[in-house]
Amino acid sequence: MSRKIDMIKELRDELIRFVAECAANWHPDSRSRYFDEPLLGCADATDSLFGSYKQIIGEHHLTPRELMETALPGKQFASGTVLCWILPITEATRASNRRQRLWPSREWAFTRTHGEAFNNAVRQHLTEFLLARGHQAVAPLLSASWRTVATADGLSSTWSERHAAFAAGLGTFSLNRGFITERGIAHRCGSIITDLVLTPSPRRYRDFAENCLFCRDGSCGACISRCPAGAITRFGHDKERCRIYCYEKVVREIGERYGVSAPGCGLCQTGVPCEARIP
Ligand code: SF4
Ligand code: SF4
Repeated sequence: MSRKIDMIKELRDELIRFVAECAANWHPDSRSRYFDEPLLGCADATDSLFGSYKQIIGEHHLTPRELMETALPGKQFASGTVLCWILPITEATRASNRRQRLWPSREWAFTRTHGEAFNNAVRQHLTEFLLARGHQAVAPLLSASWRTVATADGLSSTWSERHAAFAAGLGTFSLNRGFITERGIAHRCGSIITDLVLTPSPRRYRDFAENCLFCRDGSCGACISRCPAGAITRFGHDKERCRIYCYEKVVREIGERYGVSAPGCGLCQTGVPCEARIP
């Protein structure tokens, strides 16, 4: 048990060090980082929750075992861990987006494009960190198995970082289909799968959307009026409407002005009670 705890501490310390020191975590033209100190959680890779995602998300969603055995042909994957992290977006970037009513701020757009590139560097770094210690490790989003799939509910993917983070005890979903952690909803998240067996993090919630005020007791709903696309209502989040706004309209209107390919939007993640905490 203590070796498992030591290894979790070693991984957490390395993740925190990398986020604090890596030059790719800095805005190119300011003194601000994209992300603050990260959170780390562990899920048992054989947890039945991953199998249930085939019913909840769709048959296309892969289990940790399917991902590992596809990435490492000839190797059987019997046990292991899904390591998940949350990269909280800094106050300066959140404040800039809080003031926006239609388009994301430049800082937010840079975080969505270049910050996510840094998140890929985190995926790569932690994979190499584990490989160097003799463990197998695969980052689902960097693997050949990762792809998007058209479903009746809009585009979906073969691995959901947020569902993995839910399994790893890092937070819950919300009315606007974001993921509310102890550091709030404004973040990027990531995961890797390893054959290293670690103690799973506790899931301190009973409901899949417990951290959202609206889902908990019907109050709040602040994200509804923040959405310039009308994609959020009391009945939930219209994924396709959100996609068209974020990946077509925003890109057309401000992608070139900011010089980024994927500006995102995130208005429903800023200027709301769950922005940086569990409300
Ligand atoms: S703004 Fe309110 S209703 Fe919307 S996700 Fe956050 S807590 Fe839930
Ligand atoms: S990301 Fe933007 S378009 Fe999508 S739900 Fe949030 S506010 Fe609306």
